[in-house]
Amino acid sequence: METSGVEKRRGVVLVPCPFQGHITPMLQLGWILHSKGFSIHIAHTKFNSPNPSNLPHFTFLPLSDYLDGCDTSFHNLLNVMSVINTNCEAPFQEYMMKMVGEEEVCGQPVACIIYDSIMQFAEAVANRLKLPSIVLRTTTAAYMHSHNVMFQLLAENLVPLPAESQLEAAIPQVYPLRFKDLPLPATIEIPQPVLDFLHSYMDIRSSSAVIWNTMDQLDHWALQQLQQDWPVPFFSIGPFHKMAPAIPTSLLEEESGCLSWLDKQAPNSVIYVSLGSLAIIDEKKLIEMARGIAKSEQPFLWAVRPSLLNGSDAIKSLPEDFMKITQERGMVVQWTPQKKVLAHPAVGGFLTHCGWNSTLESMCEGVPLICMPCFSDQLVNARYLTYVWRVGMELENAGERSIQEAIRTLMVSEEGDAIRQRALHMKREIERSINEGGSSYDSLYRLVEFITSLPG
Ligand code: UDP
Repeated sequence: METSGVEKRRGVVLVPCPFQGHITPMLQLGWILHSKGFSIHIAHTKFNSPNPSNLPHFTFLPLSDYLDGCDTSFHNLLNVMSVINTNCEAPFQEYMMKMVGEEEVCGQPVACIIYDSIMQFAEAVANRLKLPSIVLRTTTAAYMHSHNVMFQLLAENLVPLPAESQLEAAIPQVYPLRFKDLPLPATIEIPQPVLDFLHSYMDIRSSSAVIWNTMDQLDHWALQQLQQDWPVPFFSIGPFHKMAPAIPTSLLEEESGCLSWLDKQAPNSVIYVSLGSLAIIDEKKLIEMARGIAKSEQPFLWAVRPSLLNGSDAIKSLPEDFMKITQERGMVVQWTPQKKVLAHPAVGGFLTHCGWNSTLESMCEGVPLICMPCFSDQLVNARYLTYVWRVGMELENAGERSIQEAIRTLMVSEEGDAIRQRALHMKREIERSINEGGSSYDSLYRLVEFITSLPG
C-alpha cells in the first residue's frame, strides 16, 4: 500500500489490551497505519508484553501495571482489567506528556491515541492532555449491540429467565438472537460489578471515532444501530490480518512442525481444533472432546494450550488411547501458527470456540466451522456463523457424540459440502471488500484522511 498524500511519520500511539485476541488486531492495525506513513508507538502493559524485537518499525512504551503476584487466570479477568486501568494511567500520562512536550522524543506531533475499548485509562489521559482519541473495537458490532439488548431485557425484568427451557426461545424483535446467544447467561442474576464493567465498556466517552475489525457487509445492521448511540465516524476496515502483511504477534511459541504434518495430508481432510487463548474447560469436557474427535475417524490437528485446563497441563490429561490414535492420524500441539494452518489446503474444517479473530481467519480462507462457543462474544458470533452467514454448524452440545457427528457431517456429507461452498463464497466476498473499491478498502482510505486531518 502506498503512503502518498500522508504527512510523513506523524505519531500514532496505540494502547492494546494485554490478551492475545486483543493484542493481535491492535498490532495489525499499527502495521496498517505504519504502511500509510504514520510512526507507531505501542504503550503496553508489562503483563503479556509484545516482543519488541519482532516489530522493529515500532517504538514500545512499557507501562508498569503492578500485576506481579496477581492472579491473572481466567476467573480473575475482571479484576485484572480493573488493576490495569488503575495502575497504568499515571505512567501512561507521563509518557504522553514527554511526547507532547519534547519533539525530540517522537520527532513529529502526536496525531492521536488509539486505545482498545477495555483500556479506558488511555482515553482519560487523552482527554486531560487534549489529544484526540479513537477507540478500537476488536469484536463485531453485533456483539456490542447485544449488550444493549441485554440492558433492555434487564430494565424490563425479562431476564433472568424463570426456566432453562426458555433459553432456546428467540428474543422478541431481536433478530437473530435467542436468549442462549446472549453474551451473559440469561438464567442467572448478573453481579453488579460485571454490569458496571459492561456499561463503561459500552461508553465511548469523548472518542472522536471508532475503528472496527469487521466489514460493513457482515455487520451492517448492528453498525447502523450503534451509530445512533455513538454519533462519531465509524471505520470498518477488517479483516485487519488481510489488510496488513503477516506479522508475528503470538504470545506463545508457535509449533510450526504441524505445517509439515499437514503437507502429508489429503486436501480438505483435516479437522483443525482450537479453543483460542482464554477459554478453559474441565477435564470431563476435555476427554469428551478427545473421544469425539477420535471417533470421527478424520485426521485432526488439535491446539491444546497448557492453560486450557484450569490448573493442570491439558496435554498430559489426554487419555492414553487417544494419544495412540493421534500417532496414527492426528497431531496435538500446544499452539499453532493458526493463520498458516487455516490457509493450508489440507484443512477442511475448524472446530472452534468462535473467538472473533479465529472466526475471521477461518472465513478469510473459506474454511467452514463447527461452533463450540464458550463465553461472551463467542456466543453471538456462533449464532451469526450458523444462522445468518451459514458458514458454520451449531453443535447440539459439547458431548462426545455430538462432536463426532458434527465432524462427520462437516467433513464427509452433502450438508457439509453445501456449508463449504458457502464458506468459499464468503471468502470471495471478503476479498472484494479489501480490494480497491471494496468497503474496507474505502474505509481505510477515509480513516487515514481522518487521522491526517486531526489538529497537530
Ligand atoms: N491462535 C494461534 N494459535 C493457536 C490458537 C490460537 O495463533 O494455537 C491465535 C488465533 O490465530 C487468533 C488468536 O490466537 O488470532 C485467538 O483470538 P480469538 O479472538 O480467536 O480468541 P480468544 O483467544 O481471544 O478467545
